Amino acid sequence: WSKETVAVVTGGNRGIGLEICRQLAVHGLTVILTSRDPGAGLQSINVLSEVGLSLIYHQLDITVAASINQFVEWLKETYGGWDILVNNAGVNFNLGSDNSIENARKVVETNYYGTKRMIEAMIPLMKPSIVGARIVNVSSRLGRLNGRRNRISNTALREQLSDVKSLSEELIDMALSSFLQQVDDGTWASGGWPQVYTDYSVSKLAVNAYTRLMARKLSERPEHEKIFVNCYCPGWVKTALTGYAGNNTVEEGADTCVWLALLSGQPVTGKFFAERREINF
Ligand code: NDP
Repeated sequence: WSKETVAVVTGGNRGIGLEICRQLAVHGLTVILTSRDPGAGLQSINVLSEVGLSLIYHQLDITVAASINQFVEWLKETYGGWDILVNNAGVNFNLGSDNSIENARKVVETNYYGTKRMIEAMIPLMKPSIVGARIVNVSSRLGRLNGRRNRISNTALREQLSDVKSLSEELIDMALSSFLQQVDDGTWASGGWPQVYTDYSVSKLAVNAYTRLMARKLSERPEHEKIFVNCYCPGWVKTALTGYAGNNTVEEGADTCVWLALLSGQPVTGKFFAERREINF
């Protein structure tokens, strides 16, 4: 890894994303910190420059197709492509018990479809390399299929989503639209969806499934064009998203992401991690 290594981080202006940017920059990479609000992003760039780190800024809202297109065009012209992509941007409105359809749509649109849109737009721009490009999706244990608590109780859907061979974008889309339909008509609680952090958990369940699906698809790429994609849970971290509750600092929350992004040796793909260890989906 060197200054030639280009790393892109979404939602880099604060919280875990900002810390991921900082740690990647400490490793000497070219880090592109992106944010939906340029004012907030440039302020973070200034904060990091005060500790001697020089990062690059670009605006990027992962829910806006035009913003993604402009970013991708700029990246292609300026750097020719990317080596590391961290899909960190995310939202959560489940601090209380409410599951409004507006919030559920926003959460699914940002956490899942935003991540998916970014991966689709970025794949054609990977820089060919011997070590392969890396995508790290910031996910959550709340999205586990087989966790002891808070898992979906629809066994048929759980089995379909568990089997990487039967995973497809259509299956994930179908599950999400049926979830949103049930939130809209007020039947989600009896529909077998997670009972707490409901829409957030469903959005991260979809991110996890998509990670495994993409790992399967991307493994077919030729040598030197390989892209390894994994997801991880940062733990319960003191950020705006948790109302600054949580056990972990942002340094701890970012650690596994940076470790995965820079991992050397035998390539790992399609796996779920926490605290630098593989965990079950
Ligand atoms: P923060 O709320 O501090 O940061 C979230 C970041 O995502 C902000 O930079 C926010 O930008 C950005 N963002 C939101 N929507 C968009 C969008 N449409 N386009 C681009 N950027 C966007 O939360 P965290 O740092 O805690 O969260 C980072 C990731 O970690 C999320 O994916 C979250 O789900 C995940 N996570 C966090 C946990 C925790 O305990 N904190 C636990 C498990 C997972 P803006 O400032 O403009 O709002």
